[in-house]
Amino acid sequence: MKKIIIIRVCEIFLKGKNRFYFLKLLEEHIEKALSVFPHELEKTQMRYIVGNFLEGDFEGIVAALKKVSGIHTLSPGYSVESEVSKISDCAIFAMNGRKGYFKVETNRADKKFPLHSVELSAKVGGDILSAYPGAFTVKVKDPELVLNIDIRENGRTLVYTEVIKAMGGIPIGSSGKGFLMLSGGIDSPVAGYMMCKRGMKLSGVHFHSYPYTGEAAKQKVVELAGILSEYSCGMKLYIVKFTEIQEAIHEKCSEEFMITMMRRFMMRITERLALKDGGQAIITGESLGQVASQTVESITSSNSVVSMPVFRPLIAFDKLDTIEIAQKIGTFETSILPYEDCCTIFLPKFPVIKPKMEKVLKEEAKLDVEQLIEKAMEQIEIIEV
Ligand code: ATP
Ligand code: MG
Repeated sequence: MKKIIIIRVCEIFLKGKNRFYFLKLLEEHIEKALSVFPHELEKTQMRYIVGNFLEGDFEGIVAALKKVSGIHTLSPGYSVESEVSKISDCAIFAMNGRKGYFKVETNRADKKFPLHSVELSAKVGGDILSAYPGAFTVKVKDPELVLNIDIRENGRTLVYTEVIKAMGGIPIGSSGKGFLMLSGGIDSPVAGYMMCKRGMKLSGVHFHSYPYTGEAAKQKVVELAGILSEYSCGMKLYIVKFTEIQEAIHEKCSEEFMITMMRRFMMRITERLALKDGGQAIITGESLGQVASQTVESITSSNSVVSMPVFRPLIAFDKLDTIEIAQKIGTFETSILPYEDCCTIFLPKFPVIKPKMEKVLKEEAKLDVEQLIEKAMEQIEIIEV
């Protein structure tokens, strides 16, 4: 009897013509996630089986697999020789410490196995009842616990009780690369994660206002990128010095347009970086109506300076929904560390909430946009996370 972990993928993406491409990507990511653990990965048609790992690595392996986009469920279990008594002993072992309403479900891929599915289920169910008197009651409809037996064609049988929900989605890289505008806040890391789930590899772009914002604020973003990079299978982080642009806006434009102007510069620079490095989309953590800069008018203004698609996966999220995901993916604790964002520098008392396009253009005409962008592009720091 060996401990194993079954990895299942979503059947939908296995149906199309892209099946082999998807599976190849997924397999690479699984191997990468498991590269630090000694193990064997067996590929079968619809799933993967991880075996021969060290007992002490079990938790670490499950945690690593939960960060692989494209894996839908995981089942820790056992692999035994396909022999009735061995299967039964294994099932009894797997049910140790449990109690309640249960049933046994057998799937027999090996048609040469001496018992039919129903016969084996009845035999193993009976053995479990005798092994733990009083602990279990058989319940065929809606049981609390299902013991699954999977008799495979290679002479081995898998026994498991648990099905753990994993990340879901489709494999990283199958939807190209997106440039995530990454602040130190709660929203943008979650937005990045959501796009990873849909197969998009991430690059991060952070706008930093040194010396108004300090080294700690930058380190925080590097840390967030580090957490995201586990979902994204690595990630490049571009740190853009935004101070001169902000000072120019502050000096020349009407105060209430500060944020509107900043957003337009951020979008343009992000798009240019994306175009230089294979990016196909911009990703932001915006949510409609959350703050003044996220009204439909503000979004129209910042959106109009780029032609690349802008993905805003949180657009219809309530903050609490976002926080829940941030906690689940492990970015929340870092995001709530106190820090200054470049957007909080020169923050106007009364920012325009619904900027009119003609006014925006009039304000922007006071600046040498191209020169400011070029200068910022020359001073970019790149960190491989
Ligand atoms: P977040 O929690 O992601 O900071 P937020 O609710 O604070 O979002 P804003 O500050 O209005 O919202 O920012 C909206 C979006 O603009 C962010 O989600 C992020 O994608 C982008 N953004 C804001 N500040 C920066 C920055 N300093 N560097 C890069 N992107 C930024
Ligand atoms: Mg923010």
